[in-house]
Amino acid sequence: MSEEPPPRRPTPPKLNPVRVPIAEEAPEARVQDFRTILHAYSREEAVLEAKRCIQCHRPWCVEACPITQDCREYIRLIAAEDFDGAARVTLRDDPLASSLCKVCYRYCEDYCVVAKKGVPIAIRHLKRAALEFGDADLAYVPSRPKGQRVAVVGAGPAGLMAAWELGIRGYGVTVFEQEPEAGGLMLTIPAYRMTDDDLRRDTARFRDLDVTFELERRVGSAVPVERLLADGYAGAILAVGTPASRTLGVPGEELSGVFPALGFLKAVHAGATVPLGREIVVVGGGDVAMDSVRSALRRSPGAHVTLVYRREREEMPADREEVHEAEQERIRFRFRTAPIAITGRGRVEGLVVRSVELGPPDASGRRAPRLVDGSDETIPCDTVIVAVGQRADLQGFPERLDLKVTPQGWPEGQGSGHATSVPGVYAVGGRSVVYAMGAAMEAVAELDAYLAARRGEATGPRPDPFGGETTFRLPVGYTTPIRS
Ligand SMILES: Cc1cc2nc3c(=O)[nH]c(=O)nc-3n(C[C@H](O)[C@H](O)[C@H](O)COP(=O)(O)OP(=O)(O)OC[C@H]3O[C@@H](n4cnc5c(N)ncnc54)[C@H](O)[C@@H]3O)c2cc1C
Ligand code: SF4
Ligand code: SF4
Repeated sequence: MSEEPPPRRPTPPKLNPVRVPIAEEAPEARVQDFRTILHAYSREEAVLEAKRCIQCHRPWCVEACPITQDCREYIRLIAAEDFDGAARVTLRDDPLASSLCKVCYRYCEDYCVVAKKGVPIAIRHLKRAALEFGDADLAYVPSRPKGQRVAVVGAGPAGLMAAWELGIRGYGVTVFEQEPEAGGLMLTIPAYRMTDDDLRRDTARFRDLDVTFELERRVGSAVPVERLLADGYAGAILAVGTPASRTLGVPGEELSGVFPALGFLKAVHAGATVPLGREIVVVGGGDVAMDSVRSALRRSPGAHVTLVYRREREEMPADREEVHEAEQERIRFRFRTAPIAITGRGRVEGLVVRSVELGPPDASGRRAPRLVDGSDETIPCDTVIVAVGQRADLQGFPERLDLKVTPQGWPEGQGSGHATSVPGVYAVGGRSVVYAMGAAMEAVAELDAYLAARRGEATGPRPDPFGGETTFRLPVGYTTPIRS
């Protein structure tokens, strides 16, 4: 009697650790203006790169994406040369895809299994390819009207995501935005990374949803939150973000030639003149500081631009790709250096700095900086850009909302799905575009359940945003969200 051979274990797919290179503008050329740095893949390059994906059964990449974008699926479709299908999958989960394919911090790539052996799949760049070569001029379709209107305060990524989620679920939405344009802090991202056209392409797909923008309308002191509910809005999502810059709190910050980073980047974005000098110092170590040094260099060609940061290079919160590109552009870095005062008579003449020692890690796990007495020196400069963080402006918002302000500055509801203590009112934001969108997604799911219960209806998952029958479901193999 012959024995059955043991079942053969499936051969693991062969892993190709080498990424199809992403072409970019040379540093000497790109600093001349605000031209886009990264070039799109060609069709052929995109297909080759997509074929490197081993289509993991457990989609680590999707689990790491705050909006559960099914990137595994759009990559599969690109590998099969179905770019229309890939564009549709992309836009099904991500209403700001034309923007995110340029500026997302790629949390998915950090968890891509290929990174264990080499360079992760270029998941973000493949999203760009899906939209470049597939049909991306689609319009979102609202489901059966709910007969209720929701107010969204703030038209940054969190507010736009909330408006989209509510719109496709059949709610009427009014978005109140204090600025003349929708986009929030995305409007400060320099054009060499993302342009206004990218955001316009995204919001154009909202055209058939019942979403109205009330621009230059501030909610708070002028229009109290309570009035919105009394005026017939069934609920509200506060997505007011961090529109104000933090200050250094050192003497001399009022001198001419000192600019808060947000004001500076907004002016650059608007094409306004900013009187920069030739010796420019930027204080900070995050992404806003990176955008500031690089924008300053482009606005003042040939200037010496120095970044001053109080910790070490590896502790900078800025995206590593940004830091690398800034180094290529010959930005000077001064680490373990803290500003003490800005000097000058009327106009900035110098930044007094002190050396920093890093102690043992504090409660946050980061090494606590300690100023070293007697180490002061002055960096001669005529411009200082302060990029040490942003904060919310909660003037006119009632205390009874019981908002928590996160360490990075945005206000958040403390209840389930970021509910505030006022029923039907939620408050969300996030440390990056996609994290802000993910928070809005959670809040809308809760608000929808709350409103459905009041209507005496059952709630369900997100409907197909293109009007089809298939509602949202997590991809096969998905286990649990990974949050970094
Ligand atoms: C220079 C810069 C570069 C960045 N680069 C990137 C990047 O490359 N990738 C990335 O993922 N993230 C990036 N970020 C971070 C990202 O932009 C933010 O995390 C994200 O915009 C937060 O979204 P939000 O909707 O919570 O808030 P915001 O974008 O701050 O939007 C809040 C909106 O609410 C409005 N508002 C505030 N108060 C009121 C009120 N009372 N009434 C009416 N409207 C109000 C504001 O005007 C604003 O439009 C960058 C940020 C900056 C500053
Ligand atoms: S949105 Fe960002 S994190 Fe999500 S799949 Fe796209 S690039 Fe990755
Ligand atoms: S983790 Fe990487 S290899 Fe696995 S499915 Fe996602 S992109 Fe493909």
